[in-house]
Amino acid sequence: TPATSKPEYDLSRSHEAFLRACKVIPGGVNSPARAFGAVGGEPPFMARAEGAYLYDIDGHQYIDYIGSWGPMIFGHAHPTVRHAVVEALDHGSSFGAPTTREVDIAEAVVAAVPSIEKVRFVSSGTEATMSAIRVARGVTGRNKIVKMTGHYHGHVDSLLVQAGSAATTLGFPNSPGVTPGAIEDTILCPFNDVSAVAAAFERFPEQVAAVILEPVAGNMGLVPPRPGYLEQIRELTRKHGVMLVFDEVMTGFRLAFGGAQERFAIDPDMTALGKIIGGGLPAAAYGAKSAVMDFVSPAGPIYQAGTLSGNPLAMAAGLATVGMLRESPPYERLEAISARLEDGLRRAASDAKVPHVVQRVGSMLTLFFNQGPVHDYEDAKRSDTALFGRFFWEMLARGVYLPCSQFEAAFVSAAHTDADIDHTVDAARDALRAIV
Ligand code: PLP
Repeated sequence: TPATSKPEYDLSRSHEAFLRACKVIPGGVNSPARAFGAVGGEPPFMARAEGAYLYDIDGHQYIDYIGSWGPMIFGHAHPTVRHAVVEALDHGSSFGAPTTREVDIAEAVVAAVPSIEKVRFVSSGTEATMSAIRVARGVTGRNKIVKMTGHYHGHVDSLLVQAGSAATTLGFPNSPGVTPGAIEDTILCPFNDVSAVAAAFERFPEQVAAVILEPVAGNMGLVPPRPGYLEQIRELTRKHGVMLVFDEVMTGFRLAFGGAQERFAIDPDMTALGKIIGGGLPAAAYGAKSAVMDFVSPAGPIYQAGTLSGNPLAMAAGLATVGMLRESPPYERLEAISARLEDGLRRAASDAKVPHVVQRVGSMLTLFFNQGPVHDYEDAKRSDTALFGRFFWEMLARGVYLPCSQFEAAFVSAAHTDADIDHTVDAARDALRAIV
């Protein structure tokens, strides 16, 4: 098992913390991916983070490629974000009343994301996709939705079916507790297969409200759309009066300022945003053209609300982050250092003669221990997860904190230096030598 090949290094304080945690928190963690279940071990507990680095309570430093699972595009504890949050906190942490900061960030989102004219803020990506689906159903008067296998949209009942991310990693892509009724209107299709979506529309004529997908999938490892796929899905959904919902919780503000929809020049009907938009605090959003968003309460009848929605601290962190992305876009540099990482990992894996494929779009990438390219969930599941587990621990022992599952994308931040990347590639060479 992966656990037995774990290199020796001292995590005794983290071990103590984990034992305490397991007594009072299910599995010791507040989100399953953090538990290291797939790689057979216990997670280091973190003490602090700065720039591209994490520091655990046992005194180790790591180059971080999780970035809190996506939000930290400028790295940790960025002074501009910190300053904005502290300033907001000094004025009160939550009012339950409107603030101008919410208008500022809504204007910034509308200016950034091509398809959005109006946007509603919520507190998690789960809420964003859940609400987008409700709006799509309310607007179209149809019930069914099409979801891609291996895509993850948060833990919304109707979307927790053949779900990627930790749901796949831990072997529960369909969760107990989700009723058959909750998923009877969810139609599954493989990603990158237009004909499957066309067949679903034919089978359920005028019954499908929306197709929801990650335009670049990050939750079964990094899986790009095949050339033309997104365009064809756009055309097909339009033809059938089906709303196209882009889940850009990961890709929004990361693959371009305007997200994947800017990068691939696609005009979705609705967009879910999260992660970067909260700058490391809990914020997410969903948006669309005004004609759609004006169905949302109190402008219209479709109800959606939140005590902490538009929270002043989260808005301040998000606004500071989006402001920096606009004023000094890091995208060219992210592309260059991520390409350097991609090339280095590919060369290291080739030299070690392990079956592999490195897939990357912008600053999101995955080294799959797989025989061939990964286009969908079935391809992803053919990866050698035991080998990945051994690689993961060898990297961790060498100070590189990768996502703890083959089915997650790594995130590069603007805080990573060329030296960090080179250290990571050297570590990968050594790690592969140790395990192959
Ligand atoms: N959508 C995508 C594409 C995600 O990657 C995630 C989280 O990883 C979500 C939705 C859910 O977001 P949250 O964890 O904030 O609920």
